[in-house]
Amino acid sequence: MIDLRSDTVTKPSRSMLTAMSRAHVGDDVYGEDPTVNSLEKCCAEMLGKDAGIFAPSGTQSNLLALMGHCQRGDEYIVGQQAHTYRYEAGGAAVLGSIQPQPVDNQADGFIDLTDAEKNIKADDYHFARTRLLCQENTHAGQALPIAYLAQSSELCKRHRLAHHLDGARIFNAAVKYDIDVKHISDHFDSVSVCLSKGLGAPVGSVLCGSRTLIDNARRNRKMLGGGMRQAGFLAAAGIYALQNNISRLADDHEKARRLAQGLSDIDELKVDYTETQTNMVFVEIINHRHHEFVGQIRQQGILLSGRYSLRLVTHLDISDQDIVYVISKFKDYFRK
Ligand SMILES: *Cc1c(COP(=O)(O)O)cnc(C)c1O
Repeated sequence: MIDLRSDTVTKPSRSMLTAMSRAHVGDDVYGEDPTVNSLEKCCAEMLGKDAGIFAPSGTQSNLLALMGHCQRGDEYIVGQQAHTYRYEAGGAAVLGSIQPQPVDNQADGFIDLTDAEKNIKADDYHFARTRLLCQENTHAGQALPIAYLAQSSELCKRHRLAHHLDGARIFNAAVKYDIDVKHISDHFDSVSVCLSKGLGAPVGSVLCGSRTLIDNARRNRKMLGGGMRQAGFLAAAGIYALQNNISRLADDHEKARRLAQGLSDIDELKVDYTETQTNMVFVEIINHRHHEFVGQIRQQGILLSGRYSLRLVTHLDISDQDIVYVISKFKDYFRK
């Protein structure tokens, strides 16, 4: 199967598995797993933060950040389409008693800062206390421009808001602009990074931020059931990913670009691959039944996701030949 549903579907490579099997481990709840400690340190250094904490998922890592920056009854400003608002089962509200204040995402993925600013509440006992701006980079595969991040950070400083980045795919953004990832992370107080997306590790995320934030996150991670024991086997995959799989993200971006280019020859498709796009291609099918198409193309060994428009995601386990094959099968379908 050529699985284009997400970059989460990658399986660990042979050399990653070797690194995992050789990991030195200990009980991480006692802080005694050397490999976990080393992953946390390595990730924090890369992002230019004081400390890091390994979490079983990006959902938990984001929640640790939200719970660290906000108290019960506080609120955070977030994009209507953001993962922390839409795809994390309402965890901030349910588990953190933190109220989201969503604002619309623009077509290019980011939230209008004037909109965000309008939603910052005055200090008045009618209102929840606005504490945090939460952004996402990449968002729907789009790398946010650095100037926009600087403006966002400036807004947070002006209003004394904390600033969190859901950087599930922050390295895709850094590779896209060919910059040190610190040029992105410097604009934020905390950053959550997924190791299990394009970086190709099987499990895990790291939250990086100030020492105080990470100490607090350690207690909350235990509370949420995310304290793992000999987690070094998983952390070893993360270290391997950070050492070997970052610069190659450019290949995924190039494959996505070729895919978009190939599919745009098909009249029945409206293909969306903007200037700032990284490893995702969004495709709308004009005048054809979406479900029927997804079902038919699956029979050709291609897995696709997306309820209304299709989302095709390139990753480690997609080869150059796969891209050629996918384009040809799409063309065959519409030729009939
Ligand atoms: C995948 C993802 C996460 C975290 O997801 P988990 O499946 O919980 O690891 C967070 N934010 C974004 C933007 C993501 O794509």
